[in-house]
Amino acid sequence: MKINVPRGTCDVLPVDSYKWNYIENIAREIANRFGFREIRTPVFEHTELFIRGIGNSTDIVRKEMYTFDDKKGRSMTLRPEGTATVMRSVLENNLYLSVPTKLFYIGPFFRYERPQEGRYRQFHQFGLEAIGIDSPAIDAEIIHSACTFFETLGLKEIVVQLNSLGCSECRPKYREALVEFFESHREELCSDCKERLSINPLRVIDCKNPNCKQIALNAPVMIDFLCDECKAHFEKLQKLLSVYGVDFKVNPRIVRGLDYYTRTVFEIVSNQLGAQDAICGGGRYNGLAEEIGGKSLPAVGFAAGIERTISLMTKCGCSFGKEPTPKVIVIPLDDSCEEYSASILGKLRSAKISSDMIYAKKNLKKIFKELSSSETEYAYVIGADEISANKISVKLLKEKNQVDIPVSDAVNFVSVRGNC
Ligand code: AMP
Repeated sequence: MKINVPRGTCDVLPVDSYKWNYIENIAREIANRFGFREIRTPVFEHTELFIRGIGNSTDIVRKEMYTFDDKKGRSMTLRPEGTATVMRSVLENNLYLSVPTKLFYIGPFFRYERPQEGRYRQFHQFGLEAIGIDSPAIDAEIIHSACTFFETLGLKEIVVQLNSLGCSECRPKYREALVEFFESHREELCSDCKERLSINPLRVIDCKNPNCKQIALNAPVMIDFLCDECKAHFEKLQKLLSVYGVDFKVNPRIVRGLDYYTRTVFEIVSNQLGAQDAICGGGRYNGLAEEIGGKSLPAVGFAAGIERTISLMTKCGCSFGKEPTPKVIVIPLDDSCEEYSASILGKLRSAKISSDMIYAKKNLKKIFKELSSSETEYAYVIGADEISANKISVKLLKEKNQVDIPVSDAVNFVSVRGNC
C-alpha cells in the first residue's frame, strides 16, 4: 500500500518553502523590532497543562487534542496552541523576574479538526506574548506589532476586530444575562449550542449555524456589562491604538475559543479567505498563570496562522521575495571533465558564491533554455578543449552572450561583476 501524508497535514515542497522562510524572516525582524525574544518549547507537553490552561469546556480540549500515553503511561498532548506552553516555561524558568517578559515563537501546532481550506491538523503559528504588565499600553503594542507584521508582508485589506471580555468581577453578571437570554431561545438553538449553554455560553455567540447567528444578534453584549476598571482599560486601549495609527472596529461578538481570555480580545480578519477568515487572534489572559499552578501574572499576546497568511498573500498578489537559486552552474561535458569542474565548484563555494553542478548529460541547448527561466546568471561549460587551454567557457545567461576566461579567474569573474 502506498503511504501518503496524514489527512490534514501537508509537505512544504521546495517551490513553497522559500515563501515560509520569507514570512518567518519578517516575523523575526518584527518581533525583534518590537523588543521580543525567541522562545522554543517542546511540541508535546503534559496533557494537564492544556486541560487546566485552555479549559475543559473548550472545543480544543473536548474534541481536538492529539493525546497519547507515553511508554510509562503518562498522558502527553501535542501542543494545540502556544500560550499555555510559553506560560509554563516562563513560570518554570522564572523568566517573569524581568518585567515585561516579551517572547515570540514560530512553530507547528496540532488540532484534530475537520480539515478544509485554511483548517489543518498540523498548522503553524507565529506568536508574541508579553507577560507581567496589566496596562493597556502593552495590549496596544501587541496589536500594533501584529498589524505591522501583516502590513510588512504587503497585506492591506485586513481588519482588526476588537472586544473586551471583562474580568472575574464583571463577567459573571454578563454570563447570567447571556444564559437567561439564550434559555428563552433554547429550542431554536443547534444541539452543540444547547450543550454550550451550560458549559460555555459565550461560545454560542460565535456559532456558525445561521439560526444561532440570527438569535445571537439580539443577545446582550459584554461591553454593556464592563466594570469601571475594565471600561477604562478598554477605552485607553482604543486611544493608544489610534496613537499608533492602527485602524480597528469594535465587534462585541468576538469571544474567541479559549477560556483563558480576560479583558482585551481581538481578531484580524480578511474578507478574502472564505469561512476561515481569521489570520490572527489574541488577547489578554490574566488568569492563565494561576490556572496552571503559578503566581498571578497579567499577560497579553497573539498568534498568527502562517498557512492562512500565505494563502491570503497569494490571493492578494503579494511578493514572497525570490526562491534562492545558484548564481553559477558548472557543466562538465563528460565524465572526464568532472575533476576539473569539481575543483572550480569547490573554489566558488569557498568564496561563498552559490553554485551547483549539472551531472545529467543533457543537450546543452536544453540546459541553457531551462536555465534562462531561472535566476542563475552564469553557466561554466567545461569540455576537453577548456581543460587543455586552462580556461572556462562562460555562458552569460541574462545577456545571452558567451566569453572565455582563464580558470584562475573562476571566482574573480563573478565577484567583480557582482559588485558592478
Ligand atoms: P487560535 O489559536 O485558535 O486563536 O488561532 C490563531 C490563528 O491560528 C488563527 O487566526 C488562524 O490563522 C490559525 N489557525 C488556528 N487553527 C488553525 C488550523 N486548524 N489550521 C490552520 N490555521 C489555524
